[in-house]
Amino acid sequence: MLGQVREFKVWRCPVCGDKRQSDWALTCHLVGMSRTHGGPHGDWVLAKLPKADREWAGSLLKVAHQLRPFVKAATSPLPPELEGDVTGQHGQAYVLLADLEIRLHGYIISKLREEYGEDEKEWWVQNVPKDIREECGKRRGEDPKRLHDWLYLTLGDLGKVVGYRNNWKLFSPDLAKLNWEEEFSQKLWEQRVSRLTALRNEVMHPLRRESWDASDFQFVRSWLEHLYRLES
Ligand SMILES: [Zn+2]
Repeated sequence: MLGQVREFKVWRCPVCGDKRQSDWALTCHLVGMSRTHGGPHGDWVLAKLPKADREWAGSLLKVAHQLRPFVKAATSPLPPELEGDVTGQHGQAYVLLADLEIRLHGYIISKLREEYGEDEKEWWVQNVPKDIREECGKRRGEDPKRLHDWLYLTLGDLGKVVGYRNNWKLFSPDLAKLNWEEEFSQKLWEQRVSRLTALRNEVMHPLRRESWDASDFQFVRSWLEHLYRLES
């Protein structure tokens, strides 16, 4: 279900609402408008990168690269059916969480493979808890697509994989850099993953959903900004 989000095409400027086909095109729009007109676009860029105005004379490309993670985190590529509902809370929340889940999954799997080697017997069998692997196997069995077992990890599973045995030492230095507002610990990690899972369940089950407030959006966006930085 979440995989569909990769096909979404529209990126909308958080300042003027202009549409672009990629986050990079939108980043260039923001940088270009800031450079030529300043104004609200300039304010938006400076709020994210306070030093940008000193860089204009140097390299616009450099500013754009620095700005890109913020653009990605602050905007949502909306699926076509939500295009008419740009500010629709449900659409925004869905896209943000889908993006977050895909990226967190990608980050965790590639880090495990990097550390323990490409052999599935090592990174998967030795370093992912047995009950989680078995659940993934069951979900795979029920899915006609029969993808790799690890593509059936849930958000809650990913949280547990991070804390499992030696994995904590592997992941915690990266994750501690996220803006937690409290001292980072395994307990805090578990609490924040639970909050994320609860938010996800609200979005995926709209009939039972309670509205997100601004702090929920901020919570998810700050995770995303961090994941983008880890990727770049
Ligand atoms: Zn714009």
